[in-house]
Amino acid sequence: MELFDLLARLHSKREESLRLLQGFVELESFSHDKAGVDQLGKHLVEVFSSFPVQAECIKEETVGNHLRFQLGEGKKQILLIGHLDTVYPRGTLERMPFQVDGNQAKGPGVIDIKGSYVMVYHLFELIADLDLDDYQIVWLLTSDEEIGSPNGKKIVKEEAARSQVVLVLEPATDRGALKTARKGSGKFTLEVKGISAHAGLNPEDGANAIEELAYQITKIVPLADHSKGTTLNTGEISGGQLFNVVPNYGSAIIDVRVSELSEAVRIETAFRELTVRNPRTQLHITGSVYRPPLVKTEETNQLFQLTQEIGRLLGIELEEAMVGGGSDGNFAAETGTPVLDGLGVFGGGAHSPEEFLWIDSLAERTALLYGLISTFIQRDYFGGDVR
Ligand SMILES: [Zn+2]
Repeated sequence: MELFDLLARLHSKREESLRLLQGFVELESFSHDKAGVDQLGKHLVEVFSSFPVQAECIKEETVGNHLRFQLGEGKKQILLIGHLDTVYPRGTLERMPFQVDGNQAKGPGVIDIKGSYVMVYHLFELIADLDLDDYQIVWLLTSDEEIGSPNGKKIVKEEAARSQVVLVLEPATDRGALKTARKGSGKFTLEVKGISAHAGLNPEDGANAIEELAYQITKIVPLADHSKGTTLNTGEISGGQLFNVVPNYGSAIIDVRVSELSEAVRIETAFRELTVRNPRTQLHITGSVYRPPLVKTEETNQLFQLTQEIGRLLGIELEEAMVGGGSDGNFAAETGTPVLDGLGVFGGGAHSPEEFLWIDSLAERTALLYGLISTFIQRDYFGGDVR
């Protein structure tokens, strides 16, 4: 079937798509709610049991279980990445119920990332027509992506390392652009211990932790390098008890974003090398650049151009974007396997009470994803080499 006809067929599945989406959205799956995440996982296994897939539940103790679906058993693996968790705590649905309004669907997680489950559902229907002899398609859903994948990242890297390509089903930008680069993220905490004393009677006996902290912050600010995309934000500070007491404690939490791996190293080194000005205070630094940057490579560029070519067959002119936020695509890219991110649906207001999905993006981006995967297979895009 021509891709354009296939798009029309997908558009005609609107009611079925919305029913599926509602089922996914109404199972709330906040990152810190293991029971909720696991329940959504069970539901997905049930829904996808109508396909010839192998479903594997990767058990976790504290966070939700991860899920892995596999279609086909060929040597070459195409990895699709999504996640089960959302940023919305249980009960959010009461204020933010699933709703359909014209071309918009609203509800917690509609674009990030439950709309993509509907895409994969239709993808698996379509892929039954393809010859998967040499390929397997793996759809990995981590349970803790929204909190930086503390547990999921290991599995993401293992799967990415044995894949030919990684397609991340995070939402596209609000304008529908794909994500060919993402910044890496870091979090650092500075704690200063001082000595308390009366501000009037014996201030000289004290060691002011807040003053020391303020000094350290002035050392951190110049670490930013906008020409390289490195930014720092001192976003939280605390300390002190009363204005007339020399404070014995102060702390600051700093957000770091980097576009280049070398910058992650530079920033981590600089934090480790901070030293106190007042020798009667103590400085304790924790943190790291926990998510590496997803750097655009030549392979990513070729993938993007191929996707653009397929987009034109569907009548869309795809753009690309570099974004500040991270995803599991960042961890996948660390393995050297080419990664294309933002291949999911789109709308607006991700992570906010206004989150919405453009309903027609479901069909459009499913056709695009199918077009891309079928092109990989039909053109033997990866050649004879198996990673
Ligand atoms: Zn997401």
